[in-house]
Amino acid sequence: MTPIRFWIALPLLIAAGPTTAAHGQEAASGADVRTVRQGEVIALTFPARDGAQPVSPDALVGRFQGREVPAFSDPGGVAVLLGVDMEDAPGTSNFVLERGAGEESRVVERVPITVTPGDFGVQTLSLPDKQVDLDSETLRRVETEQRTMLTAMQRVTPRAWDGAFILPSDGSIQNTFGLRRVINGQPRRPHTGEDISAPAGAPVSAINHGTVRLVADHFFSGKSVVIDHGLGLYSMYFHLSNVTVHVGERVAKSQVIGAVGATGRASGPHLHWGVRLNGARVNPLSLPTATVSLGMRGIPQ
Ligand SMILES: [Zn+2]
Repeated sequence: MTPIRFWIALPLLIAAGPTTAAHGQEAASGADVRTVRQGEVIALTFPARDGAQPVSPDALVGRFQGREVPAFSDPGGVAVLLGVDMEDAPGTSNFVLERGAGEESRVVERVPITVTPGDFGVQTLSLPDKQVDLDSETLRRVETEQRTMLTAMQRVTPRAWDGAFILPSDGSIQNTFGLRRVINGQPRRPHTGEDISAPAGAPVSAINHGTVRLVADHFFSGKSVVIDHGLGLYSMYFHLSNVTVHVGERVAKSQVIGAVGATGRASGPHLHWGVRLNGARVNPLSLPTATVSLGMRGIPQ
């Protein structure tokens, strides 16, 4: 049987290929190619067309690299926060905004996105062998904990975040996002978050409003908290010395959720801060920058 196809009466927008033009904060509607590094977040805004009926963001869904990206209301139209995963292949492909579901869905916007390499560096670490070469029991524990972590971040809930994202700790940023790691001479998985070095016991705060989805003590991440900020945006706080929130608790931006520590696999006290956006592992530091283009303030300097 021939699958039913819907012809979409839209002007075809052809990707113009890689560009280094800085589109900066202008509205990305139509054929503007947006250039985004691996692991970065950008905001795309879609102003309502003159005379067009306003569309509820709930009736829209964005798609990029097989991931769903929910839309939200923005002054004058709708917007999405698009996260490019740290390992999305460099090259140009379309972000599409669809209206409706299933076979009834149609593409209403297309934005060519050029992903450029993150140029992540290499980090060489020496750790005690027992923290690196895991016995089978520990390996099973780690796998279970990874599933628990992913499950805690699956739901797409209504938007809770609002305005500027803040830094979770006052410490010094280590610029370790994306580092390819070589541990005891062996290549290992890349570093998926940003480390902030701070003294043990220093307060750790929620980067925006949300609901706590996970409080756990894991082999690698130690005492950990995961906060759901809505629309598929989750923040993670690892290696804490203690946690002062519980699962299901609503937290406000800047509310203290625990303290810096060195629990789990950590060579010293620091906060590992991770952000997952609709399944993409992104650099937490790019979140405030992205939201500036939505008229929101970035991280206070
Ligand atoms: Zn880390």
